[in-house]
Amino acid sequence: MAEPIRKIIIAGGGTAGWMSAAALKAGLGQTVDILLIESEDIATVGVGEATIPTMRVFNEHIGVNEAEFIRATEATFKLGVEFRNWGHTGNRYFHPFGDYGATHEGLAAHQIWRRLKAEGDDTPLEAYSLATQMAYAGKFFPPNPDPRSPMHDYSYAFHFDASLYAKFLRGHCEARGVKRRNAKITGVNQRSADGHIESLALDDGSVEMADFFVDCTGFRGLLIEGALKAGYTDWSDYLPVDRAWAVPTAKSADLSPYTRSTAHTAGWQWRVPLQHRTGNGHVYSSRFMDDETARTVLLDHLDAQPLKDPMLIRFTTGHRNTFWDKNCICVGLSSGFLEPLESTSINFIQLGIIRLLELFPSREIDPFLRQEYNTRTLDAYEKVRDFIILHYCTNTRDEALWRYCADMPLPDDLAYKMELYRRRGEVILRKYDHFAEPSWVSIYNGQGVIPDTYDPLANRIPLETLRTLMQTRRDGIQRVVAQLPSHAQFIAQHCPSDNFMKTVV
Ligand code: FAD
Repeated sequence: MAEPIRKIIIAGGGTAGWMSAAALKAGLGQTVDILLIESEDIATVGVGEATIPTMRVFNEHIGVNEAEFIRATEATFKLGVEFRNWGHTGNRYFHPFGDYGATHEGLAAHQIWRRLKAEGDDTPLEAYSLATQMAYAGKFFPPNPDPRSPMHDYSYAFHFDASLYAKFLRGHCEARGVKRRNAKITGVNQRSADGHIESLALDDGSVEMADFFVDCTGFRGLLIEGALKAGYTDWSDYLPVDRAWAVPTAKSADLSPYTRSTAHTAGWQWRVPLQHRTGNGHVYSSRFMDDETARTVLLDHLDAQPLKDPMLIRFTTGHRNTFWDKNCICVGLSSGFLEPLESTSINFIQLGIIRLLELFPSREIDPFLRQEYNTRTLDAYEKVRDFIILHYCTNTRDEALWRYCADMPLPDDLAYKMELYRRRGEVILRKYDHFAEPSWVSIYNGQGVIPDTYDPLANRIPLETLRTLMQTRRDGIQRVVAQLPSHAQFIAQHCPSDNFMKTVV
């Protein structure tokens, strides 16, 4: 009979540490003791404010009430990402968390749209996306779960203060029996027989033992790299941005229900509105711009007063070669990092820990479980990497970074997917793709990649039928959006933080 795991240590108390603690507690109940060790003397990365809709599933899984979570973390709602100057200067498009209308007789909405375009109809594809129209109008209302409702086909995520989320989860976890120690980990003790981690040495001279370890120590990867020497695969040839200046600004009048990403000469700038302030950052490639210029670019493009000096963060895009080695997995920044363009890092935390629960081992650690975990995790990383590359490689801008991205060799699978889309709008989805068909369509379309032709099955439906169908969709969206409350009104009515009420502009 295999010996069960009785105690897990989570090293690190940033977003990854506390999300891991909450999910493991929810999944394992009282069968396993969980101890989280974090050092208040070592800062968390301090950014990471935009999410994708899976965040809601995570909160539900761990039993968090949405309105409480929103108030505690100064959260706002996110219907997608607005891209400005991506593709070419002056361009503007939206990646919505929703589709462009239901399929009709098996035809995807973008195929119908492409047929109408071939017939001279210039209506933009975005006119058929409820989430996009809501976002552009600055409105928000949650979707209706009834599939017959016109308010059904979209989703939402959150912008929130990641350090407040970690604090909120700490309270949640401690109330459920997770133990916490504030101490610096100074040593990792491994079994001489097989190299498994036995215990962690702390700066107060004590030692904490466990059967299994979750490394959430951030970029430094104290256990997975420091002790187990997992190694790191650098993907910066595909995704050359490697630094960010981040700065919060005072709350602005524009409480948009979406993240804004504005392309600049050597990178791009995020804008994430929260209830009490706005998060901003300029992500850039140090190969193509020096730090001081990048800082100036950020400060020159803010829409409100900075609340402090900008903070510089350096990173290397890529991933650990092994995500689970011996009796240790790495979660969060210790496992790797893809730039925040599509806000996927917090989702990787969630996936990593849920995957561990799915493949949860006994103390002996079956190497096949470990291998499966590593294969799935790498697959997920590659799929997100390719989706992010799509935003860069399809540009026609004229600066050095952008020319590099337009000319760089692509991963084979992405090149294949793009070719199929270019030919007739086929979107290929693989098992661990994070983003669904409408997401891929939104980026292709926004970046100016229009399929040469459309699915010939669209020809079997009379043109007038298709025109009427799409006109009805467009009109329906306009009617619905007109009736909705603004994003700020919705928050004020349902989930205002104390600060929101104080800082209404
Ligand atoms: P950290 O926040 O670095 O936490 C590490 C923890 O380990 C800390 O508690 C620290 O005290 C502890 N620790 C370290 N060493 C020791 C030691 N020796 N002893 C004890 N404790 C120790 N993600 C998104 O999903 N959306 C975004 O919009 C987004 N934007 C980002 C923008 C940038 C520029 C960057 C760099 C990241 C962004 N991320 C984003 C990623 C997100 O910030 C991280 O995924 C998330 O914060 C998790 O970080 P972490 O907990 O892994 O690491």
